[in-house]
Amino acid sequence: MNILLASSELFPFSKTGGLADMVAALARALAHAGHEARVVTPLYRGIREKFPALRKVDWYFDLPLGLKSVQAELWELDAARGLKIYFVDHPGYFNRAGIYLENHFNYADNAERFVFFSKCVIHLARYLPWRPDVVHVHDWQTALVPALILQQKNEGWGSPPPTCLTIHNLAYQGVFPAEAFALTNLPADYFAPDGVGAEFFGLLNCLKAGIAYADFITTVSPRYAREITTEEFGCGLDGLLRRRQKQLVGILNGVDYGEWNTTKNPHLVQAYSVGRLAGKKVNKAELQKYFNLPADPATPLFGTISRLAEQKGMDIQLGALAEMLNSRLQFVLLGSGSPEYERGYLELARHFPGKVAVRFGYDETLAHRIEAGCDFFLMPSRFEPCGLNQMYSLRYGTIPIVRATGGLDDSVIDWTQNPRLATGIKFSEYTARSLAKAIRKALVLFSQTKLFDNCRRNAMRADFSWEKTVHNYLDAYQQCANPKKPQKLTV
Ligand code: ADP
Repeated sequence: MNILLASSELFPFSKTGGLADMVAALARALAHAGHEARVVTPLYRGIREKFPALRKVDWYFDLPLGLKSVQAELWELDAARGLKIYFVDHPGYFNRAGIYLENHFNYADNAERFVFFSKCVIHLARYLPWRPDVVHVHDWQTALVPALILQQKNEGWGSPPPTCLTIHNLAYQGVFPAEAFALTNLPADYFAPDGVGAEFFGLLNCLKAGIAYADFITTVSPRYAREITTEEFGCGLDGLLRRRQKQLVGILNGVDYGEWNTTKNPHLVQAYSVGRLAGKKVNKAELQKYFNLPADPATPLFGTISRLAEQKGMDIQLGALAEMLNSRLQFVLLGSGSPEYERGYLELARHFPGKVAVRFGYDETLAHRIEAGCDFFLMPSRFEPCGLNQMYSLRYGTIPIVRATGGLDDSVIDWTQNPRLATGIKFSEYTARSLAKAIRKALVLFSQTKLFDNCRRNAMRADFSWEKTVHNYLDAYQQCANPKKPQKLTV
């Protein structure tokens, strides 16, 4: 198949979270399976300098955006056999310090930036000599594409490709003042308040438009696919999602083990594997030194790498750690986000010197080193569409402690589910006390070497490779073209 993917983030060119990893890995897996994948993404600041192999394409966009007409240029990169990346170059929109925000404030023109980007995606889908069989868009930033394609069909685009929307996080919907709708140049009926379309309580909702108009919808884990059709997790869109339930499936994200591995990883101090675990001890000692913590192998080391956001359970994590840090344990954090949580963790570090260390900012190398050096990884999310860090932790032999929600529930096996096959520790209730109890269980597990080793081995052997699951997306693409065919899913 020819698949055109569109994403506002793409690893290694740009990344704020799991979206970037997922789209990059999926595109690679599709190409690897013999398909032709092309990805469209914005040309953000620094990409050309970091990737000098980018070539300018003889292609100019000149597209209507409300009453204006906006120009952009195009660059491309052949990333692998069967995989090409297109970069939309509009310096005014994309040559900035951040992707969506700066100094904790969203850019005021995000609607304009991503409506324009979505229009560029459609322009490529329509006019490239290479014809996509499906256009696969991701999250709100490109979720207007299905509606825009439908409109172009109504205006005479003979047979446009079907569209697939993946929801990576329903909590981010791209909601803007109603005036922003004019940027789409869509007829007013797409904004009609009949429950289906871009209108959302008098505002423009980009993700809602995608859910309404995409031929097929996926989200990033089976449990999250069920959760988002409920009022509790539906973020106001559960009614529409229930209406589209027949075209909605959850496909657990895979992991790119080419990036996230412990045997050939330039970020790690020493390689290790399930058969040669001595290297993990070296990584732990180095991490403790890096964070100025006592390099004691017998003290269990807990870690977190996360956006510091409410979704990630940062409030209960602060509470649980405050309760548990009188026990023998250490904790390290790498995160960025809310200043309020940054203050909370700084406070914790001040209270427990020699036990807690924190770094704020974004650091890819340190993320790998934390995954490799810790004994346990904390991920107590309030909700979690898929989550990648718990799967990286599994491969790195770092036992995940997760809340049983979304993809966390789908990817970790708890002791109580199956003691022989357990890969981690799960808890259900969203409270600091519940998480503290899970940490207490971890301390017991750590003290029982045989059980701990067994759990670690299970974790490291768990396989979430894309090769195993890419066919689920190919099935979804078939569904886009023939929405009535029943779909068989394997996870
Ligand atoms: P989300 O997409 O909701 O942020 P995921 O667990 O799906 O959560 O993916 C997060 C990705 O971002 C992982 O690859 C993780 O290592 C990375 N990440 C998050 N925060 C940081 C940070 N401060 N520095 C480096 N990598 C980070």
